[in-house]
Amino acid sequence: MKKNKILIGVISIMFAGIITLGIIECNNSNTKDNDKLFIGNGKFCQAKRLNGLGAIYDDDYIFFDCENQIYESYNYSNKKNDKKLNVNCRNSACSHNNDKCEAYVELGEYFVFNSKIYKYYNKSKVVSGENRLYGSIVEEESGKTVFKNSIPTDMSSELAIDDSEAILYVRVLSDDIIKVDGDRHAYLLDKNFNIIYCHYNIGKFPWGAILNGNYYYINDINEIVKVNLTTFESKSIASNGKAFMADNDENFIYYSNEFSELYKLSPDDESSIKIADNALFFSVQNKYIYASGGDNGNKIIYDKNGKIIADYSACVNMGADSAFQINDKIYTIFNGGVAYMDLDGKNYGEMMQ
Ligand SMILES: [Zn+2]
Repeated sequence: MKKNKILIGVISIMFAGIITLGIIECNNSNTKDNDKLFIGNGKFCQAKRLNGLGAIYDDDYIFFDCENQIYESYNYSNKKNDKKLNVNCRNSACSHNNDKCEAYVELGEYFVFNSKIYKYYNKSKVVSGENRLYGSIVEEESGKTVFKNSIPTDMSSELAIDDSEAILYVRVLSDDIIKVDGDRHAYLLDKNFNIIYCHYNIGKFPWGAILNGNYYYINDINEIVKVNLTTFESKSIASNGKAFMADNDENFIYYSNEFSELYKLSPDDESSIKIADNALFFSVQNKYIYASGGDNGNKIIYDKNGKIIADYSACVNMGADSAFQINDKIYTIFNGGVAYMDLDGKNYGEMMQ
């Protein structure tokens, strides 16, 4: 009897672990070596903002990709800690102002994928008198290069002229798939960084989503495109106006159009309903939508059906499309620091070095 109870307990714990891993991209190593660049305890997770990734974090620390290309950490587990950022560099003699500093990431970001920390970055090289960028992805712990961006081999020469080997953005779309955006092309890569899909009609923003085995993105003529990841058939979904920007949660896609109207799109029947006006720029984080872009420049928090929760215009350095959520706070990285507030816009503050 007792044995059975223990067995059920163990199975429940395993099950809970599987569920947790399925929902968030986390690193499951619980013991960390303090000699490592990223210290702290617990699982590593990934925060996402529309135009990039923003931060990785564990139970103790958030590591922000600050605007000076230097990673800075914030110890948020220590309640006594004042809101202060520290350069994430272990060398006390370092002045943290050049590419020798280990906190520096040249035109790139760290991300968590398939339980590991990776970094994408770009190196500039002068080739036939022209400054070109070459983008790579490396595994943080081993330093091993796992992917080098290249111009797709079957791309037409007219398109290839405007393309490059730079990596503009990496987005983690699921536990199995990341999206790498170049100048003209976007690749979907699997866990082993093999290319599983490529398209050349990338839009202005790197948003992409995987819902029910379909990949969605906005193309260069502002359509929302759906790609079946089994058959690789693609088609445009009808939208109200031109899709300017999009974000999603587990069930719906939200997009703004050229009239700054915000729509909620059901991937099942592909129908859209308008939920707000004055919301050109926005991001979906947890249970709310953080939006801006009206004539008056107001920043508004909506619920998922367009009900106004709060006006957060007074939170000067808090963004809309650049905002991201970690636990019970929303953050935005600005030039000089990191702004934060509660999910409902209360308790705004800023932290700096
Ligand atoms: Zn340094």
